[in-house]
Amino acid sequence: MATGKTSVGRLVATELGRRFVDLDAEIERTAGRSIPDIFKTDGEPAFRRLEAEVLGKQLDTRGAVIATGGGTPCAGDNLERMRNAGLVVALEASLETILGRAAPGTTGRPLLENADAAKQLYAERASVYSRAHAIVKTDGLSVEAVATEVARRANLRLGHATVRLGERSYPIRLAALKSLGALCKELLPGATQLAIITDDNVKKHGHAQAAKDSVERAGFKCTIVTIPAGEVSKQLSTVAWVADELARAGLDRKSAILAVGGGVVGDLAGFVASTLFRGIPYAQVPTTLLAMVDSSIGGKTAVDLPSGKNLVGAFWQPRFVLADVETLATLPVRERRAAMAEVMKTGLLADPELVSRLETHGEAIALEDAVWRCARMKAEVVSADERELTGRRVFLNLGHTVGHAIETYAKTLVHGECVALGLVAAARVSERLKLSVVGLEARVTAALKRLGLDTNLEPWLKPDVLQIIGTDKKRAGKTLTYVALEDVGRPKTVDLTVDDLGDLLRGVRPSG
Ligand code: NAD
Ligand code: ZN
Repeated sequence: MATGKTSVGRLVATELGRRFVDLDAEIERTAGRSIPDIFKTDGEPAFRRLEAEVLGKQLDTRGAVIATGGGTPCAGDNLERMRNAGLVVALEASLETILGRAAPGTTGRPLLENADAAKQLYAERASVYSRAHAIVKTDGLSVEAVATEVARRANLRLGHATVRLGERSYPIRLAALKSLGALCKELLPGATQLAIITDDNVKKHGHAQAAKDSVERAGFKCTIVTIPAGEVSKQLSTVAWVADELARAGLDRKSAILAVGGGVVGDLAGFVASTLFRGIPYAQVPTTLLAMVDSSIGGKTAVDLPSGKNLVGAFWQPRFVLADVETLATLPVRERRAAMAEVMKTGLLADPELVSRLETHGEAIALEDAVWRCARMKAEVVSADERELTGRRVFLNLGHTVGHAIETYAKTLVHGECVALGLVAAARVSERLKLSVVGLEARVTAALKRLGLDTNLEPWLKPDVLQIIGTDKKRAGKTLTYVALEDVGRPKTVDLTVDDLGDLLRGVRPSG
């Protein structure tokens, strides 16, 4: 009572990209009268019956953030029903705070009109509130701070993350593909028609059809446009072809696109969405591990040119990301393994717990948990630095300076396999610069080996590879900004010349 449930609830709903329901307002709407009036004329039992009924309706529709009355969880089996339907968060305030916020006689809240009664009520209710899933203290905190904390708890509990970009904020949900339709209804409410863009592998395994079935069941008209699998499709001619297919299928400015596939589909579909009809909404439905932990989050869309990768593109944020880890069951083993290097990267940058799980379980790590941890980290970095202006995104390059060079040189290795080698390089450089603890390279190497990844850097320490690093676009002036590690979870950038980097990797201390 008087802890700011309604204002907090509204902010939490925005943050999580969900519908907001103020239960008291719903009750008043249903009854056509004010709550004090219902209390006075019909009495509390009648009010509680009505409340239980209205609550039941809201719990059945799912997906909302509901601010209840202070007495709601205390009556009947309300709390049990709330706990079964979702996450229950209690906002806690001291009695002094509550009485201070709600001066008697001014609240319109029938049960707070008298300080003694409030005191008794407070004691009675405290024991009920302690059965919430989470309790968030509100004393001395702003509504915004409380909302942030509630959203954080909700994310921890519900396994999703949020990219926070003001009005363009969007949720990352880890859920079954069959919930796609419901999510579209919730987060693409005005869309008249949907189009799924996918590739022929993803289609062959049935994921595009599963997505289509779900959105059609939710009442949307939906077409599928399929591109050939692989990086070759990330080019302007595919953009032109796909855009034309969408226009022919009858899409208009009120339509939306669903990218169902890996990073190639995501990058291409996102770019089409950013330009078709001068920009329409889209959502990312990643089906590769790499796309789930990296490319589907952050709104970077692009296609390649003959002169280089990702040269034409736009920042265009999706309305949501829905990752169903079950779809990874059909992913080729090599793709999954390679993307594990990116999972390892996340752990090394920001999540020691994730690293120790990789060390203990190897490939048998709980995928949903790993995806969520990576998605959350990427979401946080993007929220802080959407367009790579403040430099926070630079840490995401861990393992990628050397990794990219090997990828360009080797041609036969896939991206993640090169990142694994790049991570070994980063650990070695950190150790030899005496930045990090002794043994970091051995630790990183052992963990990557356990994931089935090649960690033998020696064959790649060639002048040709170093020369490619020298022409890397991220190199400013003579030195390059290299992401090293002080320890697991503690990245640090160092400025190195390419020659120094080569010496450190070969085990020689740089001269001078
Ligand atoms: P991809 O999209 O080519 O997918 C890899 C392969 O797996 C393809 O053959 C695909 O058809 C297949 N596939 C996808 N899902 C499947 C499934 N569930 N079952 C079976 N097969 C499946 O490649 P990727 O590794 O997902 O992404 C790489 C692309 O992502 C690159 O183009 C890269 O530039 C881009 N990328 C973008 C960002 C970004 O921020 N936008 C970040 C990193 C990488
Ligand atoms: Zn990468």
